[in-house]
Amino acid sequence: MHPLIDSHCHWDDPRLQALQPQLWQSCVTQGVQQLVVPGTQKAFFARQITLCEQNPLWHLGLGLHPYFSDQHRTQHLLDLARAIDDHQPVAVGEIGLDFVVDTTLQGFSNTQQERWFIAQVELAKQANLPIILHSRKANDRLGQLLRQLKFDRGGIVHGFSGSLQQAQKFTQLGFKIGFGGTLTYDRAQAMRRLAASLPLTDIVLETDAPYMPMAGQPKDQPNQPDKLPRVLEVLGAVRPEPAAQIAMQTMANTLDVLNLNKLPLTSSAHL
Ligand SMILES: [Zn+2]
Repeated sequence: MHPLIDSHCHWDDPRLQALQPQLWQSCVTQGVQQLVVPGTQKAFFARQITLCEQNPLWHLGLGLHPYFSDQHRTQHLLDLARAIDDHQPVAVGEIGLDFVVDTTLQGFSNTQQERWFIAQVELAKQANLPIILHSRKANDRLGQLLRQLKFDRGGIVHGFSGSLQQAQKFTQLGFKIGFGGTLTYDRAQAMRRLAASLPLTDIVLETDAPYMPMAGQPKDQPNQPDKLPRVLEVLGAVRPEPAAQIAMQTMANTLDVLNLNKLPLTSSAHL
């Protein structure tokens, strides 16, 4: 059992909360000591905030997810700015661009996605916060926008999919590269090679629970943060370092990029 932090878990999702309190106990047993809880829509900010206030090891992120671009309103940006002031999230996110989603079906355009993204990068700059990036087939455009916006706080590219060159462009901008359940599939050879070739200091681990089920997991069941050791196991198999070192370094990377490194690593008060 190695101490780990899940750098991306939708802990406030009702499918995960329905499994509480046993699920958190199982996380702790599996070594998953801390969670980063990204935001998706203004409607869920309150439940995320209430939840993260219950345990200092559940870290709040607040942002408007590109997948829900049709539901965001200008007022939600003002609400986000206010919530950032009032509740000190560790990051603005998850924000980004999704060029896989069928925008005609979803009722929004890529231009709209970009507008929400740019406005939130500006909020992160004002608040001096890193960002949690959602990128599907949008690595190059996001890199371009971040450079244009002169964003230098870094953050995490979650559930990364792309080339080594694209990953390196993000790490040059101060980002860590997030790997999750996709790595556990045998067919994910290209992604495993990428995860093996990046410096360990650039990598963070995540589940994206309840999404992105691990290999062999029934698709109708929610993914869970206590499954994070499976991602570590695959990384340990493809990288030269022992699992203990990968666990320690990826935990340090996450805490570092989210400026959480002064926090004590364990707390028994909220098991
Ligand atoms: Zn997510």
